[in-house]
Amino acid sequence: GSRFETVEQAPPDPILGVTQAFRADEDDRKLNLGVGAYRNDDLQPVVLDVVRKAELRVVEQKNNKEYLPIDGFAPFNKVSAELMFGADSELLASGKIVTLQSLSGTGSLRVGAAFVNRFFPGAKVYIPNPSWGNHKNIFADAGVDVAQYKYFDPETIGLDFSGMMADLESAPEGSVVILHACAHNPTGIDPTVEQWKEVLEICQRKGFLPFFDSAYQGFASGDLITDAFAVRMFADAGLEMLVSQSYAKNLGLYGERVGALHCVAKDEGNAKRALSQLKRLARALYSNPPTTGARIVAEVVGDPELFEEWKGEMMGMAGRIKEVRQQLVDCLKQKSPNRSWDFITDQIGMFSYTGMSNAQVENMTNKHHVYMTKDGRISLAGLSSGKVEYLANAIVDSFD
Ligand code: PLP
Repeated sequence: GSRFETVEQAPPDPILGVTQAFRADEDDRKLNLGVGAYRNDDLQPVVLDVVRKAELRVVEQKNNKEYLPIDGFAPFNKVSAELMFGADSELLASGKIVTLQSLSGTGSLRVGAAFVNRFFPGAKVYIPNPSWGNHKNIFADAGVDVAQYKYFDPETIGLDFSGMMADLESAPEGSVVILHACAHNPTGIDPTVEQWKEVLEICQRKGFLPFFDSAYQGFASGDLITDAFAVRMFADAGLEMLVSQSYAKNLGLYGERVGALHCVAKDEGNAKRALSQLKRLARALYSNPPTTGARIVAEVVGDPELFEEWKGEMMGMAGRIKEVRQQLVDCLKQKSPNRSWDFITDQIGMFSYTGMSNAQVENMTNKHHVYMTKDGRISLAGLSSGKVEYLANAIVDSFD
C-alpha cells in the first residue's frame, strides 16, 4: 500500500480554484471575475511601463545571484518602509520601524503569524467577517486561534460599524486585530476617517496589536499616499503594530512574490529584537527572499522620475476600474430600475461585493459562464467595457 493512502484529496482553493474552472470552460462568452488581478480593457494582463524600465535597468546592472540577507534587499526595505509610513516619518528616523522583505503579502502575513504564535502564545487574531479567504488559512496554519469581528451589514450593504466596535470591545485585551489598510477585500467598504479614529482608540485602550494588511495601496483612491492614511495614523499615534505590504496589485508584480513585513515598536531596542526573531522565523520557513522583484521595486519606488510615472499608471488602473464600475451601475439601472444598485459605486478598490447567494453565484457561472468567488464577490479589475452589458444581463437574471 501507499504511505499516502490516508491522505485525503484537498478541496480546490476557493479563489484560485475559480481560475482553474474558468480555464476548463470552452464557451467563448466566459468571463473571469474571480481573482483580483488587473486586466486592461482587452482583458489582457498588464505589465506596467515603469516595471519594464526598471527590469531593463536591473538587467544592465549585471547583478550576481548570491543570496540576499535573510531580511532582504536593504534598498528595497528602505523605500518600502518610506512608501508605507512616509519618507519624512519620525518613526523611521528614530529606528522604531524594522522591515523584513518577504514573499509578497501572503508570505509577510505568514511570517507575522508565526511571530504571533511564538511570542504571544494564546493570543487570538481577530479578522473581519467577511475577509480575504486566505487570512483564516494563514493564521490557522501558523497555530494561531482565529476569531471574527463583524464588518459587513447585509441590510445596508455597508459597514456594520457598531457591530464591529461591539465585537472588538468584547475581544480579550492583547488580541491581534487584522485591519485591511484600504480597499477592504471582499467588500470594498472602508471605515471613514472618524471611524478609523474610534478603531485606533479601542486598539490603544485594550492593548490590541493591530496587524495591517496593505495589499491595495493605490487602488482605493488611486493615490498611493492617500491610501496609506490609516497605517500612518496608527503608527504616528504611537501604537505598536505589524504591517504586511504587497506589491502584487499596485505594481502588478503578482508572480514575483515581492512584499514586506514591517514591525513598529515603541523604541529602537524593541524593534531590533523583534527583527532578529522575524529573521529567525524566516530562516526556517524559506531562508531568504527572492532578488529580482525587490530590485525592480527599489528602482521604481526609489527613483523620483519612475515613482512619478508609477503614480500616473496607478491612477490609470484605478481609473479604468472606476469607469467600468460606473458603466455597470448605469447598465443595471437601465435593465432593472426597481432595484438599488448604488452599492456598487459606493464600494471601492478592485471588487464589488454583490450580496449574491450561493445559488445565485451558481447561476452566474453555470448558466452565464461568469466566474466569481462563492461569497458573491466580483473583481471589476477583470471586467472590460465591452463585457459590461453581458455581465449586467447575467446579474439581473441571477437576482430575479
Ligand atoms: N491581503 C489581501 C486582502 C489580498 O486580497 C491579497 C491578494 O489577493 C493579499 C493579501 C496577498 O496577495 P499576495 O500574496 O499576492 O501579495
